[in-house]
Amino acid sequence: MTKPLNELTITEAAHALRAGECTVRELWDACMAAAKERNPELNAYIELFDADEAAIAAAQERIDAEKNGGEAAPQLCGIPLAIKDNILIKGHIASAASKMLANYEATYDATVIQKLKEAGALFLGRANMDEFAMGSSTEHSTYGPSRNPHDPSRVPGGSSGGSASAAAAHMAIAALGTDTGGSIRQPAAHTGLVGLKPTYGAVSRAGSIALGSSLDQIGPLAKSVADAKLLFDTLKGRDSYDATTNPDGLFPPRAHGAHLRIGVPRSFIEDVDADVKQAFEDTLARLKHAGHTLVDIELPTSTYALPVYYVIMPAEASTNLARYDGIRYGLAKRGATLLDDYVETKTEGFGPETQRRILLGTFVLSSGYIDAYYRKAEAARDVLRAEYAKAFESCDVIAFPTTPSPAFAFGEKSTDPVSMYLEDIFTVTANLTGMPAISVPMGTAERDGVALPVGIHFTAPHGDEAALFKIGAAVTGETL
Ligand code: GLN
Repeated sequence: MTKPLNELTITEAAHALRAGECTVRELWDACMAAAKERNPELNAYIELFDADEAAIAAAQERIDAEKNGGEAAPQLCGIPLAIKDNILIKGHIASAASKMLANYEATYDATVIQKLKEAGALFLGRANMDEFAMGSSTEHSTYGPSRNPHDPSRVPGGSSGGSASAAAAHMAIAALGTDTGGSIRQPAAHTGLVGLKPTYGAVSRAGSIALGSSLDQIGPLAKSVADAKLLFDTLKGRDSYDATTNPDGLFPPRAHGAHLRIGVPRSFIEDVDADVKQAFEDTLARLKHAGHTLVDIELPTSTYALPVYYVIMPAEASTNLARYDGIRYGLAKRGATLLDDYVETKTEGFGPETQRRILLGTFVLSSGYIDAYYRKAEAARDVLRAEYAKAFESCDVIAFPTTPSPAFAFGEKSTDPVSMYLEDIFTVTANLTGMPAISVPMGTAERDGVALPVGIHFTAPHGDEAALFKIGAAVTGETL
């Protein structure tokens, strides 16, 4: 093996374990050593866990059994992962990078964690994030921002920026994030990873700390399309603990030939940085050369996607965050009256961006404004969904750049919320429509003499993750 163990992909590490090129313990130690070395600078992890000796031994036993002709172990067996801090792991703190939940210890495993444990995966630690997953830079974490391993003076994206920084800096083999409006795909793009937001309801949300319940999905940040697919295949499925998970067979598989029709809404991407646009056009040209077809499409309602998202998402966030009242969970301040208890707890427990979203959300849901904002946004969401469904009559996937620019510098957008929200312009529609979407590395754009990764983004119809993996692999040159 020429690469250091911590730099392997899941499929490479699974092979190395079976070929006897390393043990589960050595793989864990390599990731943990890299994490200990780089975390003081990158702050990708809020906490690194002690080695779970029983889990390491059990994973090694399953691999040894396979080697000796016994039952095949899952590919994820013995693979160390970083887990975003809003996904519950029993016995560990899950803080969502908020002061509100700084001491909240999970009493059960999220369904995705249970599935990973059954597959024999290992957990290195809690990955940093924007507080309650609101943000695009990790600058809203109460534990300070994570840094981009390609240029530590820049953000790794957000809100799953810690997961992205950990995997991109090889402090984990891969990571889990959550995506409400782009929080897996945007950090994946900024750090050179593959990030998948599954179809709404494909993966159980049970045991993830809720942000926007009609938008949230858990998904992988990985070093290859094959790894993202492997994680998705492990995580997906109907779950009795999440009534919004899709029953098997809800979306019959679509038949695709070897080549896909790629819809390109060029009028919507005019404001993208020139070199990002060039990387996008070069990638499309490569795909065309490989036999895929480019189809011009129009998505006129897309210009409203961002304002629609920033009405619906705060509305749902304000509803979900109402539970942090100083009585049921987390931080509890006591004042002279019950109202004081609430005010003091929320004032101290929530950071400024969280408070801003709660204010926005309660405003758009208030009796005087619900028709003007929330209901109108829900109506526009239906139009967007119909527009995409129509577009998918003439194409199999829709392509955008994942973000208008490469990773930005700290402080560049944190004082101007609207400029931060503009980061999400290409990603939010997949959450609003519930459609699956992937970001795949498409080269680099140079800023201040540093080559920064940029990503290409594909959306597919509900349930058609297969199309995303196929086109993603065509971009990276993988054979799945
Ligand atoms: N950046 C978006 C926001 O701040 C997306 C967040 C997310 O996907 N969790 O809302």
